[in-house]
Amino acid sequence: CGIVGYIGHRQAYPIVMKGLQRLEYRGYDSAGVAIYDGESIQLCKTKGKVEDLKNKVESSINTAGNLGIGHTRWATHGVPNDVNSHPHYSNSGDLVIIHNGIIENYDAIKKELTNRGFTFESDTDTEVLVNLIEDVQINQGLKLGKAVQVALNQTVGAYAIAVFDKKKPNEIVVARLGSPLAIGIGEGEFFIASDASPFIEYTTNALYLEDGEMAIVRLDKKIKVFSIKDDALITAPYIQELK
Ligand code: GLU
Repeated sequence: CGIVGYIGHRQAYPIVMKGLQRLEYRGYDSAGVAIYDGESIQLCKTKGKVEDLKNKVESSINTAGNLGIGHTRWATHGVPNDVNSHPHYSNSGDLVIIHNGIIENYDAIKKELTNRGFTFESDTDTEVLVNLIEDVQINQGLKLGKAVQVALNQTVGAYAIAVFDKKKPNEIVVARLGSPLAIGIGEGEFFIASDASPFIEYTTNALYLEDGEMAIVRLDKKIKVFSIKDDALITAPYIQELK
C-alpha cells in the first residue's frame, strides 16, 4: 500500500499517477485519486490495478488541478471494492483523506459519530477518521491542522495520512505513526509519498517524518512539523539530500 500527494504549480494528476505506479511494488488491492482545482474536487477510485484506475480516471473525470492525492490500498477493514477504496470524503464533502494503516478503535468512534448524525458509505476505519476530524473541526472551531491533531489523539492505531480541506486549496496536512511518510520540497511545490521514489525526479530535498510527527504543508509557507501528542514544534526538521 502507498500514498502520494502533490501541491504546487504543476498539474498534480500526472505526478500522482506516476507516483502510484512507482509504489506498486508495495502491494495493494485497490487504488484511487482525488484532484482539486480550487473549485471542485474530482475523485476516482477502483478495486484492481493502478492501470485500471488510470483508464477509469481518464474516461470519467477532469484531471486538471494543482493539488492531488493518490492511494493504493491493502484492505484491513472492509473488503476490497470500489466504495472501500480511498480517498474518502467527510460527510460535508469538504475533507478528503488517504490512509495507510489501521485505526483500531474505529468501531467505538463510529458509534459515537453515528449518534451525532454522521453517516458512512464504506466499511473502512479510514472513513471514520476523516469524519472524526470533521466533527472536531466543527465542534471545536479548529483549523484543519489542529483538528487532525486533536482527532489523532483520540485514535489507537497506525497510520500515514494525507488530508486536505476544500476550504484550504493551498494546504495538505500529513501525519505518521508506524507507516512511512516522506515530503519532497521543491521550489513552490511539495510532494508527499510513502518513499521518495515518486518525487526523486523533481527534487533532491526530502524530509522524512518520524513516528508521532505531523506536518502542515502549505504553499507560500515553510513546512511546519510538530509532535502529534504535545504540540512541540520540530524547529529544525532533518532535510536530507537525495542522491
Ligand atoms: N485500514 C485502511 C483500510 O482498510 C487502510 C488500509 C491500507 O493501509 O491501505 O481501508
